[in-house]
Amino acid sequence: MQFDLFQLKGQVAIVTGCNTGLGQGMALALAQAGADIVGVNQSAPTETRAQVEALGRRFLDLRADMADIGCIPGLLTQALALTGRIDILVNNAGIIRRADALQFGEADWDEVLNVNLKSAFFFSQAVARHCMAQGRGGKIINVASMLSFQGGVRVPSYTASKSGVMGMTKALANEWAAHGINVNAIAPGYMATNNTAALRADESRNAAILARIPTGRWGEPSDMAGPVVFLASQASNYVNGYTLAVDGGWLAR
Ligand code: NAP
Repeated sequence: MQFDLFQLKGQVAIVTGCNTGLGQGMALALAQAGADIVGVNQSAPTETRAQVEALGRRFLDLRADMADIGCIPGLLTQALALTGRIDILVNNAGIIRRADALQFGEADWDEVLNVNLKSAFFFSQAVARHCMAQGRGGKIINVASMLSFQGGVRVPSYTASKSGVMGMTKALANEWAAHGINVNAIAPGYMATNNTAALRADESRNAAILARIPTGRWGEPSDMAGPVVFLASQASNYVNGYTLAVDGGWLAR
């Protein structure tokens, strides 16, 4: 048994939406395992950049709105110009919109599908083409959700997008496994980030959610560390198309 199975030294990981929350947690974990990070954000990833650099890793700060896939070719060109290689892609950027299904509007549908699903597909496609040309394989990690498995309440476009992410993960894994590209997903449970601030602020929803989580606590960005390094490293070379729940046992109830 090799104990350097989780080592990412010399590799380059793109992480979308890493200025905060789960993306920040995953970027730091990948950097701790040795990878340089290309962060794709709308806002300045000041804290993440400082923490990655404090670990002795490089951080390339790229800005883009992932609602528009037109930015993807330019992002890859810039990343490659500065790093020379891409080994790992984490499609983490994501948004949620809440409204009753009867009132749900087209803008809230399109925006969520574009950021959460469409951009993840086309970024994966661009990185897979690069990995195939590089001939070294690669690792693509999508961020799914409990709502890849369940229906949720008042979040129809989010549920559609995250169910799509889980299906797309399997579809891409099938096509690219023979090229040494592993496509998998992490489905976080209820995690304490901006994305869930409204839920945690609602006393009764907060209590109901906590009561159903076997570990009895909200997840933290650091809970993503082990799973993302596993799926980004050679430790997961024979894992393809799988969505790994990191949920404190939520789905086991
Ligand atoms: P968060 O704190 O709200 O972070 C979302 C990240 O996505 C931010 O970095 C944000 O950057 C980025 N982002 C959003 N829209 C973007 C756009 N158009 N272009 C580029 N970047 C964009 O939420 P989080 O909880 O960490 O969420 C991270 C991922 O985990 C999402 O895919 C989310 O759906 C998923 N997830 C979260 C939970 C949870 O309980 N928190 C559970 C399951 C799945 P800016 O601030 O620059 O916009």
